[in-house]
Parts: sequence; structure tokens; C-alpha cells
Amino acid sequence: MIFSILTIFPEMFDPFREHGMIKKAIDQGSIAVNTINIRNYAEGRHRVTDDRPYGGGCGMVMKPEPLSRAIKAAKEKSPSSKTVLLTPQGQMFNQKAACDFSESEGMILVCGRYEGVDERVFEEYIDCEISTGDYVLTGGELAAMIVIDAVARLIPGVLGNKDSAENDSFSNGLLEHPHYTRPRNFEGNEVPDVLLSGNHKEIENWRLEESLIRTFLKRRDLLGNKCLNRQEIEILKKWCLDIEKIIRNQQTQSISGTGSLSGSQ
Ligand code: SAM
Repeated sequence: MIFSILTIFPEMFDPFREHGMIKKAIDQGSIAVNTINIRNYAEGRHRVTDDRPYGGGCGMVMKPEPLSRAIKAAKEKSPSSKTVLLTPQGQMFNQKAACDFSESEGMILVCGRYEGVDERVFEEYIDCEISTGDYVLTGGELAAMIVIDAVARLIPGVLGNKDSAENDSFSNGLLEHPHYTRPRNFEGNEVPDVLLSGNHKEIENWRLEESLIRTFLKRRDLLGNKCLNRQEIEILKKWCLDIEKIIRNQQTQSISGTGSLSGSQ
């Protein structure tokens, strides 16, 4: 997959290309991370890429001509790639979007700077707009790196273990289960027994239940949107029964005057 990044700061991507999974993916030919300096498509001795906003106001705006020329050049090299503008006003980026992009041949990522990009570039040259979150960065470069990192790790062969991405948080609509490694006892805290049992079925069940618990406690919105399978529904039903039992016990104790509820009545 080819990532073509349009930026006025191409050197920001040098360290990004030189470490970890991204470096490995480039070295093995799974991805290419190419930068195109928008400044090279600007005119004049100073190759200016920004100008003052019409109507006044603070800040500068990215000029449409250098940007549109740079996009055309990227499109010529990679015609089937979608042109994506990084912007806080775009569609929120998530695992599903990363997964969809990972199946494409390439992405042309346009990094804005200053107050953003001249509005007239949008209609003709941009296929979609992506935001990495509800906050404002100074430029699209960090957002582009987030997108590339999340997309690249889903390309077959990039992660060592085929299953690692499949079990990640969000991949199946849940947060991932907790992880433990050596030592077995860390500052008095033991690794859960089930993980030492060697019983793969039990470990799998425990992980699923932990995953559901985490999602319920930390991201209940995800559970509401997920299409639960039979096993997951059974686990949730069991919790309901357990909770009902606890409440019933409390009520019985309070009626008989032995429970903590009785004091508050
Ligand atoms: N004035 C713009 C606004 O309020 O919508 C923000 C411009 S921001 C200072 C400069 C550039 O950073 C944007 O053009 C965009 O490329 C990038 N950027 C900032 N926040 C972003 C976010 N949350 N997601 C993706 N890109 C972002």
C-alpha cells in the first residue's frame, strides 16, 4: 500500500519511517511512505504556500494553487488512491475506517497548516475528510502519522502474529482483555490463576468475560452498538442473574433487620 503525504514539513516523517513496525513494513515492501513537499509546487523565489484570509481575521490560509498541483502530481503516481484531507472538521477516524483503508491500494494524505486550506480545494480535489479527534493540532502531520500507523498494522503480513490485530480493542466491538507477563508476583499482585492453568478453553472464556467487563465499565457505548453473539449474551445474562441475586439478598436481609439497608430505612 502506498501512503503519499502532502506536507510543507516532509522531514517530520523521517523518524516516523525509521522505527518499529513502520520501518519493518517499509523494508519488507508491504507499504511505502512517500512525502511530497507542497512547497515544490509553489511559485516564486520564496515558494510561498500561504496567504492572508479574504475578509480579514487572524492567521494564514494555505493557497489553493500549490496544493492542487501537489495533489494532481500525487494522483498521477497513484491514480486509485483516495485523497484524504486531515482536518478537525472531518469524519472521526476509528478502527473500522482504518480497516476499510487497509484494503485500498493507497492513500493521499493532505496535511493542513495555519488556519487550514482554501475552501475551493475541497470540492475538486478531496475525496474525504478525516479527524483524529475533537481537538486542534497545529498541523495535519501528526494526524497523518496516526492514520498511517493504524492502517498499516492491519495490512496482512505487517504484524508478526496474524491474530494480534484481530483481538485488538475495537476490532470486534469490545475493549481487549487485560495482559500479564512475568514475574508471576509483582509487588504482591499475582497473575490470575486461570492464565497459569494451561486450559485454553477456560483462558479463552476468561478473556472474553474480562473483555466484556472492561467494555461495560469503560466504554458502555461500544456495548450498546455491538451485535453480541450467543456466548456474549449468555455472559451478560449471567451477570444480570448474579446482580439480581445480590439485590434480593440485600432486600431479604433488610426486611429481617440484619442487613445494612435496614439502617437507612
Ligand atoms: N482553523 C481550523 C479549524 O478550526 O477547523 C484548524 C486548523 S489547524 C490549526 C491546522 C491543520 O492541522 C488543519 O488544517 C489540519 O490539517 C490539522 N489538524 C488539526 N487538528 C486536527 C485533527 N483533530 N484531526 C486531523 N487534522 C487536524
